[in-house]
Amino acid sequence: MNNFDLHTPTRILFGKGAIEQLRAQIPAGARVLITYGGGSVKKTGVLDQVHQALAGMDVLEFGGIEPNPAYETLMQAVALVREKNVTFLLAVGGGSVLDGTKFIAAAAGYTHSSDPWEILETYGEFITSAIPMGSVLTLPATGSESNKGAVVSRRSTGDKRAFMSPFVQPVFAVLDPVYTYTLPPRQVANGVVDAFVHTIEQYLTYPVNAKVQDRFAEGILLTLIEEGPKALTDPQNYDVRANIMWAATMALNGLIGAGVPQDWATHMLGHELTAMHGLDHAQTLAIVLPALLNEKRAQKHDKLLQYAARVWNITRGTDDQRIDAAISATRQFFESMGVATHLRDYQLDGSSIPALLSKLEEHGLTQLGEHQDITLDVSRRIYEAAR
Ligand code: NAP
Ligand code: FE
Repeated sequence: MNNFDLHTPTRILFGKGAIEQLRAQIPAGARVLITYGGGSVKKTGVLDQVHQALAGMDVLEFGGIEPNPAYETLMQAVALVREKNVTFLLAVGGGSVLDGTKFIAAAAGYTHSSDPWEILETYGEFITSAIPMGSVLTLPATGSESNKGAVVSRRSTGDKRAFMSPFVQPVFAVLDPVYTYTLPPRQVANGVVDAFVHTIEQYLTYPVNAKVQDRFAEGILLTLIEEGPKALTDPQNYDVRANIMWAATMALNGLIGAGVPQDWATHMLGHELTAMHGLDHAQTLAIVLPALLNEKRAQKHDKLLQYAARVWNITRGTDDQRIDAAISATRQFFESMGVATHLRDYQLDGSSIPALLSKLEEHGLTQLGEHQDITLDVSRRIYEAAR
């Protein structure tokens, strides 16, 4: 096992009715800005519940944060935060609202450059403070509710980039599985696939004898495989929703990634696909991951066999046969959730691959993966295999 430094300071308020504990989490006297997305939280009544919970407090609202949150929109919220001297941010929604709010939190007082887009160009390196934030999560997927990462897109330049900072780690997360009953099937599937791939990015690398992390990761994968399809057929099943919600949080709160090598190339290649073609985040992961696992089958050999046996119960055949079967089971799982796994399924013929590679290069993403051996040439092969 590798050395690690793990600090996960987000308070998790989990379960039916957890909103009742919201008020106590926010400092008395705070000026709160509630941030939300395109309006789902108005339709579902979650926003009303938040207002009821905060009745009498000093509360403002900023809506309209879109999926794959846009820098251009977020900068409007930054102006509002500065103008109104907001002291606490409360994100109500999915990963896009949470990520966008992390950016607002860091950008509002950013001093290193006059243009906070620099945060995305420097992976958050020069953030020295942020407005504290909490969240009420409505879409289990990203793990953003209890991690220090965020992804922001800039529409004008076609960039989608990530940053990390301990200053934007949310103080608390309200996780009520009931809030996920209203998710459209496409977003249920997206969430399950995203959480699955987060787990894979930290598990399916090379062995370092990290047994607890491996078995936690396998437990998350098995849970998503068992419960994901049930959420589509039985959307109001509380236990199914609760297990998916907790699995998605656990997949990216630092725990399974502590002391192990991490890959993340699937996410990086996927971000470029979203930025260029507007595909959902999880759709891009479902396209890239099977092709990437096949491309890196030699480097990931031992863990692929472990994954085959422990997650898919594939124990017969040669090593290559078992690895093929595990990759194909992964693809089948994504497809069974309704997330297609080839570029052609999204009317993309691969003609944009050179442009995607140029963007990877522009973003300095030329040595990806746990061995930093996914060069532009390897990325090209992965995109081509995903056609
Ligand atoms: P999302 O983009 O936040 O939301 C997708 C859609 O679901 C939105 O249209 C939203 O509607 C709707 N929605 C959310 N909750 C709902 C509910 N309970 N009922 C009905 N509709 C609901 O999706 P996401 O998958 O959570 O976030 C994706 C973003 O997170 C991407 O930008 C991705 O790159 C990023 N990401 C971040 C991390 C991280 O660690 N920070 C990790 C992976 C991915 P409204 O807009 O109307 O609310
Ligand atoms: Fe993700």
